[in-house]
Amino acid sequence: MSKTVVIIGAGVIGCAIALQLSRKGYKTINIDKNPEVGYGSTSNSCAVVRFSYSSLATTALAFEGYHYWKNWTDFLGVKDERGVAKYHQCGHLMLKHSPDDRAHVVEFYEALGIPYEEWDNATISNRLPLFNLNLCGPVVPVDDPEFWEESSSEGEIAGGIFVPIAGYIGDPSLATHNLRCAIEAAGGEFRLGRRVLGINRKDGRVSGVALDADEEIAADIVVNAAGPYSGKINEMAGVLDGMAIKTKALRREVHHLPSPPDFDFEHKGVMTSDDDLYLYFRPETGNKVTIGSGDPPCDPQVWVDDPDDFDRGFTESQWKAQVYRAARRIPELPIPNNASGVVDLYDVSDDWIPIYDRSDLPGFYMAVGTSGHQFKNAGAVGDLMAELVDACENGLDHDQTPLQYECSHIDQTIDMGVFSRRRKIHRESSFSVRG
Ligand SMILES: Cc1cc2nc3c(=O)[nH]c(=O)nc-3n(C[C@H](O)[C@H](O)[C@H](O)COP(=O)(O)OP(=O)(O)OC[C@H]3O[C@@H](n4cnc5c(N)ncnc54)[C@H](O)[C@@H]3O)c2cc1C
Repeated sequence: MSKTVVIIGAGVIGCAIALQLSRKGYKTINIDKNPEVGYGSTSNSCAVVRFSYSSLATTALAFEGYHYWKNWTDFLGVKDERGVAKYHQCGHLMLKHSPDDRAHVVEFYEALGIPYEEWDNATISNRLPLFNLNLCGPVVPVDDPEFWEESSSEGEIAGGIFVPIAGYIGDPSLATHNLRCAIEAAGGEFRLGRRVLGINRKDGRVSGVALDADEEIAADIVVNAAGPYSGKINEMAGVLDGMAIKTKALRREVHHLPSPPDFDFEHKGVMTSDDDLYLYFRPETGNKVTIGSGDPPCDPQVWVDDPDDFDRGFTESQWKAQVYRAARRIPELPIPNNASGVVDLYDVSDDWIPIYDRSDLPGFYMAVGTSGHQFKNAGAVGDLMAELVDACENGLDHDQTPLQYECSHIDQTIDMGVFSRRRKIHRESSFSVRG
């Protein structure tokens, strides 16, 4: 008889895992307190698909993840009446503030065969005439008087590295609904609008979950894919003591501004990582520019204890910090009086690298700590988590001999020890949303 897996969460990660497990013959049940899939932090994702990571393994995972979006319709194999999430292939540009800036990223691109182009400043100006190419840093807090001063840096940025195949998914909730259709076609079920209140154990193993309204669901396996609630769920399961790396929720504001009117940023803009200003830019529907933070050390971080209770309004200081920094790179950027965009939570691990692992409680697994940068990897994460669950349930001692995950689309094997809950902090991490 097939084993029952309860997956706590029906965001893009929980759904991707359910799809691959149900295709392996497991009976899956996604439980989510929201009334529809993809209504948690996934719904507010910028859904950028880029490959600039701090290690070969995390870069490989992003490149593998891209192939799922590229072949999304075939991967789903079913029709969704709501339509199919579209991959906008606009490319990704990393601005360099010195000639050897980001050399390690280029090394990983070379090693993995990720296509890239070196752009000099003339090329950048030609493609993105709205950009001012002067060095604009160092960034300072918005309440520092120097915030409004001219930059003390002299000279220009040192060109950039452009990856033409990078892009973004315009509607991350729709992508998750696409997964729901595929899961249901494979026999998986959903319990939406229901909250998990407890993790049940029997004979030293997980045995199911307790829901609101005094309901219990028996399960052989439980997977924590609860996004910013992951720490709460791990606490409920009593597995925190066995984790060297933990997770917590971080409040995040992303702002949407109109593009300068004489430039069609929606169709001609490229996603841009600007480490000089600790910002990223992404084209947005309605000829807008999405502006996100690259986590400058000088900006305060707002950690949230209770993900059900945080300020979903924009703060004046964060709005000013992001949009006025952005206006240094895009001097013609119109700045409206009222803030718009999204406010949500990242589920951040201690080193900003996710945890894809088992736990000390047999049968209880986790795909957590996605740290603001794992939407892109959902397809690959679904597959690697399904492999991990299957291997562990069939006797693999993953803590002693980590699973070696063979990517399906690229010629790479990823040592899953990289994503272990027991790992040492990854010192090469950017400790930011860059991963
Ligand atoms: C503002 C923002 C911008 C981002 N931009 C990018 C980007 O550009 N590129 C990228 O790759 N990634 C990005 N990310 C990260 C990416 O969106 C996340 O890593 C991903 O969506 C996480 O998916 P998830 O399924 O783990 O979490 P979620 O989508 O949050 O799903 C978890 C679900 O669990 C449910 N849940 C929790 N606790 C319980 C409970 N007790 N009972 C029942 N249900 C429960 C919640 O309701 C929720 O629906 C961004 C994230 C944010 C917030």
